[in-house]
Amino acid sequence: MDLLYTPEEEAFRSEVREFVAAELAPVANRIEKEEISPREFVRKLGARGYLGDLYPPEIGGTGRGIVHDTIVSEEVAYVSPAADAMRAVSTVFCAAPLFRFGSPRQQEEFLRPLITGEKLGAIGISEPNAGSDAAGMQTRALKMGDVYVVNGQKHWITNGSEADLVLLFAITNPDVHAHQGMSAFIAQPSRPGFTVVQDMAAMGLHGTSHAHLRFDDMGLPLDHLVGEEGNGFHVLTDELASERIDITSRTLGCARRLYEEALRHSARREQFGRKIRTFEGVSFKIAEMKIDLDAARLLLLRAARMYDQGLPVVKEAAIAKLFAAERAFQIADKSLQIHGGLGYSKDHVVEKFFRDVRVFRLGGGTDEIMKFLIQREEYRDFGLM
Ligand SMILES: Cc1cc2nc3c(=O)[nH]c(=O)nc-3n(C[C@H](O)[C@H](O)[C@H](O)COP(=O)(O)OP(=O)(O)OC[C@H]3O[C@@H](n4cnc5c(N)ncnc54)[C@H](O)[C@@H]3O)c2cc1C
Repeated sequence: MDLLYTPEEEAFRSEVREFVAAELAPVANRIEKEEISPREFVRKLGARGYLGDLYPPEIGGTGRGIVHDTIVSEEVAYVSPAADAMRAVSTVFCAAPLFRFGSPRQQEEFLRPLITGEKLGAIGISEPNAGSDAAGMQTRALKMGDVYVVNGQKHWITNGSEADLVLLFAITNPDVHAHQGMSAFIAQPSRPGFTVVQDMAAMGLHGTSHAHLRFDDMGLPLDHLVGEEGNGFHVLTDELASERIDITSRTLGCARRLYEEALRHSARREQFGRKIRTFEGVSFKIAEMKIDLDAARLLLLRAARMYDQGLPVVKEAAIAKLFAAERAFQIADKSLQIHGGLGYSKDHVVEKFFRDVRVFRLGGGTDEIMKFLIQREEYRDFGLM
């Protein structure tokens, strides 16, 4: 790892790891089993300055960049992917567009408290009838006098039932294509017409909410528009680059945990009078897992360092996310296999990570959508479109 990270980044990782061991590890099991919210932990991350790496000091951040964000993400996810999902959705998915497109007043009122951890954010894109095809969303925000009136619904909204604000995407002009007719807004649950219908029962990431939200004639002041009216699709696609890099690091944290659990178990467990690691059927899986982990890290770092240099990363972020998500799921399968029946037990951490890691092939764009983007960017780069 020494060649990949600077000594300062390595020191930062050690510091974050220590903090996570002290503040998150003792409650990680309760987050999973009792579904207690990791909200308090996210608040502590904010107090330590770990939520602001993407933002400059003037707005309460550290300005260290996305590589540092990926280190925080990996270390938190290694212990609790659910806690990291809560952190990420608030301080990357919701906050990054506020930083890049929000007005100074919006940044002061809404972005700063996300960075300090005092407030929690969510992002509302997906709907029951619009997932991969976000442009097909049906939620409407129609300007009437001095408010936008919002009607529609969103589902699978992480942090949705706990958030203080939702970065909400809606159609403001249904007469043009959504690429020109979509806008982004700040919506607070305290507004009349904002309803949390229910928290969806998820396979993994227990402890964070994934809510179904409904909006019935919810009025939003005109100054809750983020960026220009009609620019929402651009805000959305711009956000996805940092989101996908962040998801890749969360995936890597999970995969590293699954790998290290398998490594330790295979070095301890004996069958036929031998450590099971001495069987090639086991040790070759370890080799395969390690190769996938290292390759995923290299792809992640390429995308993250490009992002920090302000370069376009649509393709590189998609490649990193797709590779990490697919391979992490294979790593989960191999880790469970190496644990034998133990890995199938609800009392074992591998069973939990096996469920948690599956989501990364869906959220932030599915595997298939990543492949679509990668091939599209390749044909474009070669001037063949
Ligand atoms: C735990 C969790 C948390 C989430 N958090 C959020 C959140 O905070 N905010 C938010 O807005 N959304 C969130 N989502 C929603 C997530 O972004 C969507 O699930 C995802 O974009 C896929 O959409 P979908 O589920 O509607 O699947 P669909 O779009 O219906 O896709 C179903 C299948 O069809 C395939 N498919 C669709 N179109 C194509 C195509 N053009 N080419 C090839 N294959 C295609 C897909 O790849 C997939 O395999 C979350 C989802 C989960 C599970």
